Amino acid sequence: QKFVYSFTEGNKDLKDLLGGKGANLAEMTNLGLPVPPGFTITTEACKVFLETGTEPTSLHEEISAHLDALEQEMGKQLGQADNPLLVSVRSGAKFSMPGMMDTVLNIGLSDASVVGLVAQSGNERFAWDSYRRLVQMFGKTVLGVDGELFEEALDEAKHAKGTTSDLDLDAADLKQLVEVFKGIVERETGRAFPQDPREQMDLAIHAVFHSWNGDRARLYRRQERIPNDLGTAVNVCSMVFGNLGEDSGTGVAFTRDPSTGAQGVYGDYLSNAQGEDVVAGIRNTLPLSELEKLDKKSYDELMAIMQTLETHYRDLCDIEFTIERGKLWMLQTRVGKRTAAAAFRIAVQLVDQGLIDLDEALMRVTGGQLSQLMFPRFAPNAESKQIGRGLAASPGAAIGKIVFDSYTAVKWSRSGEKVILVRRETNPDDLDGMIAAEGILTSRGGKTSHAAVVARGMGKTCVCGAEELEVDTKRRRMTTADGLELEEGDVVSIDGATGKVYLGEVPVLPSAVVEYFEGTLHAGADVQGGLVQAVHRLMSHADGRRRLAVRANADNAEDGSRARRYGAQGIGLCRTEHMFLGEERRKEVEHLILADNDKDREAALSTLLPLQKGDFLELFQAMDGLPVTVRLLDPPLHEFLPDITELSVRVALAEARKDPNENDLRLLQAVHKLHEQNPMLGLRGVRLGLVIPGLFGMQVRAIAEAAAERKLAGADPRPEVMIPLVGTVQELELVRDECERVLAEVAQSTGVQLDIKLGTMIELPRAAVTAGQIAEAAEFFSFGTNDLTQTVWGFSRDDVEASFFTAYLEKGIFGVSPFETIDRDGVGALVKHAVQAGRATRPDLKLGVCGEHGGDPESVHFFHEVGLDYVSCSPFRIPVARLEAGRAAI
Ligand code: ADP
Ligand code: MG
Ligand code: MG
Repeated sequence: QKFVYSFTEGNKDLKDLLGGKGANLAEMTNLGLPVPPGFTITTEACKVFLETGTEPTSLHEEISAHLDALEQEMGKQLGQADNPLLVSVRSGAKFSMPGMMDTVLNIGLSDASVVGLVAQSGNERFAWDSYRRLVQMFGKTVLGVDGELFEEALDEAKHAKGTTSDLDLDAADLKQLVEVFKGIVERETGRAFPQDPREQMDLAIHAVFHSWNGDRARLYRRQERIPNDLGTAVNVCSMVFGNLGEDSGTGVAFTRDPSTGAQGVYGDYLSNAQGEDVVAGIRNTLPLSELEKLDKKSYDELMAIMQTLETHYRDLCDIEFTIERGKLWMLQTRVGKRTAAAAFRIAVQLVDQGLIDLDEALMRVTGGQLSQLMFPRFAPNAESKQIGRGLAASPGAAIGKIVFDSYTAVKWSRSGEKVILVRRETNPDDLDGMIAAEGILTSRGGKTSHAAVVARGMGKTCVCGAEELEVDTKRRRMTTADGLELEEGDVVSIDGATGKVYLGEVPVLPSAVVEYFEGTLHAGADVQGGLVQAVHRLMSHADGRRRLAVRANADNAEDGSRARRYGAQGIGLCRTEHMFLGEERRKEVEHLILADNDKDREAALSTLLPLQKGDFLELFQAMDGLPVTVRLLDPPLHEFLPDITELSVRVALAEARKDPNENDLRLLQAVHKLHEQNPMLGLRGVRLGLVIPGLFGMQVRAIAEAAAERKLAGADPRPEVMIPLVGTVQELELVRDECERVLAEVAQSTGVQLDIKLGTMIELPRAAVTAGQIAEAAEFFSFGTNDLTQTVWGFSRDDVEASFFTAYLEKGIFGVSPFETIDRDGVGALVKHAVQAGRATRPDLKLGVCGEHGGDPESVHFFHEVGLDYVSCSPFRIPVARLEAGRAAI
């Protein structure tokens, strides 16, 4: 097995093996772009190392062979005393995990070779600065020394010199600092800083392997749903130096604006600096356009390379580069992260440029991004006091109390507060706090700073580099340009689309995309740089492509109409429980429950009948011409009765007054009788229909009479009747007989021929298993995946999410709650079986799903694969389901 690939051997499609960074370094090398030579150790090697604790046996030899070749090519040897080759050892997994894993620069420097580097470069300060960086980075990431110790020593050295900039430290200062750093390493680890270059390299490689399992990396993977068993590759790359003086520097760039998608020059540059300095926000960077003035030749070359890359990858790329004494080097590229708005705009721009077709454009956007675009934004408001402005790093409108550290962000948000995490700059240790916060505000750093990159990845609002805000994390204060001091807990509003920061709470407006779906915004309206047009084009394409129909879960005419505007092709789930609520209706339900003879029962039912019929008339009107699946009463009856404690108190008080209320007494008895230890598995659904005579019959009559009335008025009502919680075909047959009798009666009395389909929910494991039998009595199935998930796993959704799900997610038992995304292997397998068995019995069986999963992107793909006819979800999720159903069909 081959564990090491030279950059000349790989290509961009080998991300599984070489990681994203390695695969793209190889791709750029093969495109003839200036990449410093090097090689990549595969993720396979990492996996073996993490499993067994040692390198695969052949790895050492293989690395030696590649190192030899590299040394040949470069004409110098790793750490050679008089003319050293230096390398970086860089992490790089299949999916980009910015800053989550380790990278060590300047490997190969030692007490001996630093002298060689002085001679080689003719720059003493540079050589010692590089060595100082090595001891610091190696000490921290490889040897596990607390990074603060180095920072403090560096601050001390600057202080002694009377400066705050590391650029003011001269060669002698840095040389002395190296001694101090080496002392720290020796004191903290009990051994001297390793002087053997190959040992340095091997230890750094192991450290990168280990960093795959670091806390930060694990947390990030859970957030981003990246599997835990992929491992990271390691890239060994010959060093080029941006810290050789003013004609050198380092930068990051995007081929287009990652927050809006606009074409142009976007990036940050820092002269006389090494890699990490730009992203860490240590010094303030220059906008990339300034590079044109500093070094026109390199700038032009960079622009040409960016063009090449964008055409080659047919997508927005981000880039890390270094200029060494006027020579440009490419250190990294990848298809860049972007905001949701940019994703839609860029996809459509690329279609217009002829680089991709609409199918591919559709694959470049996601339902998750679309739902981000449906969040509200700030209303322009004269009242709001702007207190600062930074870069629009990641869009959204976030309002919250300011906190100055990650710990407080997590603590406050756990107790229900909305918080804005305010930092000078963030680093990977702030990840918890960034997750907990509504938004992130920093006073330093560009659009490519850690805060910006991570926030965009998470879809979280972020304003960064708001320089006129003075952030003092120690005193927990933020001071504005005009001297206003804000304390922890003060409320601010941050606008990630404009970069503006406001004092207090600013009112919010609905998103333009929502207005477009609502029909209040014309599809051609030019708002937010063509965002609405882009959404319109991709939604239309998705609609043309998808095989799954999309329906809504809507209980009333208002929700139904909204769903229709959002593109619903019917109602997949109309719950009827609200038809039993409200003062007057509740009373009748009480009568129904208390009735001990047919006459009382019928009286209660006949009072409810016209009320329900009225509800259906409105609903059928709103949904004219589209199917409306009405689920008969599902929840346990006691939900309609007064609370047991309240009622007991009332009865007790009345007794004490010697004025007992007969009705309350009977109610209390009924409440006691109906009380269940586990109502979810109790008297509900079809069981109610079978135990309370006439209940389902009344509901079906209301549906049928409403439909007949609409039909007589010339309309096109299309109700379907759905029976919940069926476990066996016998239950369904009994209900079916009653329904058919009622339908026949209504047809007779109204003279209208009604074609009302009767079907069932499949939401119990037994129903799924015996779906073949159930299909004998059902004309359609609708998978109730909420209850099915509860009953298949034996989880009570109302309890487990709060009690042990966090622990389960942390332990990796599942990557995402099975209530959020369908559990393909368990619940999904039952769905699949039921689909096949049901269709075997009844080939024209209609199949849908009406659980929360119907609006979840990943689950929509599953439902497409198993061949359902439609998904049904809440009105607001409909655009997401349409988009994902389109993507699933490509
Ligand atoms: P990350 O995955 O966190 O971005 P990288 O491996 O890209 O880590 O390294 C971080 C930075 O270190 C790079 O952006 C680059 O500027 C610098 N760097 C890495 N390798 C080299 C090299 N061979 N020569 C010069 N700079 C390098
Ligand atoms: Mg990088
Ligand atoms: Mg259910």
